[in-house]
Amino acid sequence: MATIAFIGLGNMGGPMAANLVKAGHTVTGFDLVPAALEAAKVKGIAIADSAKAAVAAADAVVTMLPSGKHVVGATTGADGLFAAAKPGTLFIDSSTIDVASARAFHEAAKAAGHASVDAPVSGGVGGAEAGTLTFMVGGTDEAFAAAKPILELMGKKIVHCGGAGAGQAAKICNNMILGISMIAASEAFVLAEKLGLSHQALFDVASTSSGQCWSINAYCPVPGPVPTSPANRGYQPGFAAALMLKDLKLSQEAAETAGAATALGAAATALYTAFAAEGNEGKDFSGIIEWIRTRADE
Ligand code: NAD
Repeated sequence: MATIAFIGLGNMGGPMAANLVKAGHTVTGFDLVPAALEAAKVKGIAIADSAKAAVAAADAVVTMLPSGKHVVGATTGADGLFAAAKPGTLFIDSSTIDVASARAFHEAAKAAGHASVDAPVSGGVGGAEAGTLTFMVGGTDEAFAAAKPILELMGKKIVHCGGAGAGQAAKICNNMILGISMIAASEAFVLAEKLGLSHQALFDVASTSSGQCWSINAYCPVPGPVPTSPANRGYQPGFAAALMLKDLKLSQEAAETAGAATALGAAATALYTAFAAEGNEGKDFSGIIEWIRTRADE
């Protein structure tokens, strides 16, 4: 059994670290927020006095932090985690961050003599608790092979997407599709309402025809057709609009840097920006249908 450090014990990191404990690993964690540390302790995670202390004896380090600046800030530099870990430690960053920061993370890890993967996830807090996350992984074949047995304890699908940053690239491309398709589904249901077509009728057709997609078939933005979708519980998340907006913004930063034309990605970012700005950051992202419905009457 390995000694694993887990840095960032928030909504996702806490339950992910708990699954490593359940599998029999020794897990030492750290977070800046005392309440996160208390919750982690209850789940069997040993709490260190600092992130540097947590990684000192670790074979592998998982980071699950808010953004690229947190990941690069925590790991690099003379006072960072790469300097504090023993040579040859495996670093797994599962945060959703920008591709440029992910590449900087890999370069600094390599310079310090460590193996590294970017391994963002999809599946949300429910998937983190159940150990059913999908991991999208970027890094060398060797680093992927070393990370896979650890990721398998927290997820059920582990995809090696390519070299450094490829996991983050896959994550933001996927979530750009999701943001666009949820708006497409919502606009179609609102148009159907105006045309006197029932939600169930549109669902029965679109979910089995060329309009089918996850946003309709599994996460339908109107109550009724898919009883498990957030529409049936007042759009409680689920996947909060603030997180969708974060990922859409990352996709647009990446598109600009890479020179890709993403007109619908840009439009989706603008619509989610307006939706979030009206106090909806905490609602499920599928709640954008209510906002689209309101605009239709303007
Ligand atoms: P969160 O805010 O609940 O947790 C992040 C934690 O990191 C916080 O507890 C914070 O105190 C801690 N932290 C920040 N800087 C630190 C540092 N230097 N040292 C130690 N701890 C530090 O966020 P979350 O929902 O757990 O999300 C984490 C990452 O996973 C984000 O990048 C997010 O985009 C991504 N993600 C979240 C979801 C979701 O549904 N919540 C789904 C997929 C991906």
